[in-house]
Amino acid sequence: MLKSIVPAYKSATWRVARTATVQQSFAVQFRRGMATETEELDLVVIGAGPGGYVAAIKAAQLGLKTACIDKRGPPGGTCLNVGCIPSKALLNNSHLYHEILHDTKKRGIDVGDVKLNFEQFMKAKDDAVTGLTRGVETLFKQNKVDYYKGTGKFLGPNEIEVTGNPGERDAILKTKNVIIATGSEATPFPGVEIDEKKIVTSTGAIALEKVPEKLVIIGGGIIGLELGSVWSRLGSQVTIVEFMNSVGGAGMDAEFSKMTQRSLSKQGLKFKTGTKVLSAAVAGEGVEVKVDSAKGGKEETLEADVVLVAIGRRPYTDGLGLENIEIDKDERGRLVIDQEYRTKYPHIRVIGDVTFGVMLAHKAEEEGIAAAEYIKNGHGHVNYGVIPSVMYTHPEVAWVGMTEEEVKKSGIAYNVGKFPFAANSRAKTNLDTEGWVKFIAEKETDRILGIHIMGPNAGEMIAEGALAIEYGASSEDIARTCHAHPTLSEAFKEAAMATYGKSIHF
Ligand SMILES: Cc1cc2nc3c(=O)[nH]c(=O)nc-3n(C[C@H](O)[C@H](O)[C@H](O)COP(=O)(O)OP(=O)(O)OC[C@H]3O[C@@H](n4cnc5c(N)ncnc54)[C@H](O)[C@@H]3O)c2cc1C
Repeated sequence: MLKSIVPAYKSATWRVARTATVQQSFAVQFRRGMATETEELDLVVIGAGPGGYVAAIKAAQLGLKTACIDKRGPPGGTCLNVGCIPSKALLNNSHLYHEILHDTKKRGIDVGDVKLNFEQFMKAKDDAVTGLTRGVETLFKQNKVDYYKGTGKFLGPNEIEVTGNPGERDAILKTKNVIIATGSEATPFPGVEIDEKKIVTSTGAIALEKVPEKLVIIGGGIIGLELGSVWSRLGSQVTIVEFMNSVGGAGMDAEFSKMTQRSLSKQGLKFKTGTKVLSAAVAGEGVEVKVDSAKGGKEETLEADVVLVAIGRRPYTDGLGLENIEIDKDERGRLVIDQEYRTKYPHIRVIGDVTFGVMLAHKAEEEGIAAAEYIKNGHGHVNYGVIPSVMYTHPEVAWVGMTEEEVKKSGIAYNVGKFPFAANSRAKTNLDTEGWVKFIAEKETDRILGIHIMGPNAGEMIAEGALAIEYGASSEDIARTCHAHPTLSEAFKEAAMATYGKSIHF
């Protein structure tokens, strides 16, 4: 992947460009009269999302003089500010609300008049975000990471200009190393204008001013299904339009994708799979969405109060000044790196959503630690075969390793073992029995290749699966490990038993 290592920065063209940029940088200082040039740093991290802030903290812990820059102001990136954390706050509290409304009678709990206090509901989400972003700022202080709230822009390969947010510091940072961790943004739908009020991305969908009566979601991936669940539980009629014939995205095992669609349909979400969106535009008080079947010939118009565009995310590099250093991008806009996260400049590394791999916070964090370790120690480690995925609907869906389709395609002979939560004592006690655990193991060696769970707490349970695959465990290793009773994790053990032999309770 590494195209050419460096000499560009020694070339005559580069020297001319550099002279120009140095003049520009002095001009910038002169213009503002306040940008300060710092003494040379060991590392500047651009972006304080889960990739960037973790990289900065780890680098500082390893003794590197480190600064981190983020133009958003509060650190934490997409994840803490407008992604993982606020969406999970909404998912958790909307689930609780839905349970209290619909699931207490059979448990012998009579509740009075249950009302949604929408303002407080949204404030609880905002409080979770504020608490956690402040926590990251404290961690920066504790670890002596110098945090700049502003936009970072390359003036040259070792020089970053910070244009501070209002009231914040401007600076010119000179540095031996750089980590780019500028993340991603929602991919726009061609021809559909986002106003974040009626036609929204996930950022607008976690901050709606009221519960929409009708919500149409373009895209049946994880973000669409999670946010669809939130608003459906609060009372919206939710329709999900998905071009493919399945939901959950490419990484989800086909069997679990079908189960997910069935389960969410029972909860009231409507699905239009194999359907393409032709247009979406504000019309009067609402939005009109024109759709057709993927093959054509079945045009119809859907009416909505709000439309969420959730067709994926794309790398974000606006304003980073890449034109001043010319780092390579691939055809999808991802910054090109080698196995040690290095661009064509070995001292400039890239991690997280803005480069290759799944767009997940924990993947970015792992890369942050590894990149800092590469800089300090010359070695680092991320096992890309063991990055778990979780969809926080109810039930949750979680997986790690290969799907059955991938194993089939690879030609490896395999065994499958499954166990339903309906046969698990704790799930029955909790009156929460929907879902299954499925193991896929290599036939010859019994080595676990993939684990897929749909069920209560699947997102926590998958950690055991990740550990097992990381350590090269067999399904028998799990099956012979004692799991406490009565716990949901016994379903995990029983699925392992069913893979190399037979389960007891099903
Ligand atoms: C609604 C939603 C829900 C999600 N839920 C989950 C989940 O449950 N679990 C999960 O693992 N992932 C989830 N994700 C994905 C997760 O948020 C991302 O994978 C993760 O945030 C990527 O981390 P990152 O550090 O690469 O980039 P980001 O978190 O995007 O951070 C990049 C930061 O760089 C800053 N920046 C960009 N350019 C500059 C510049 N020039 N100068 C200064 N700063 C700059 C930006 O302001 C941003 O704060 C979710 C995403 C969304 C949108």
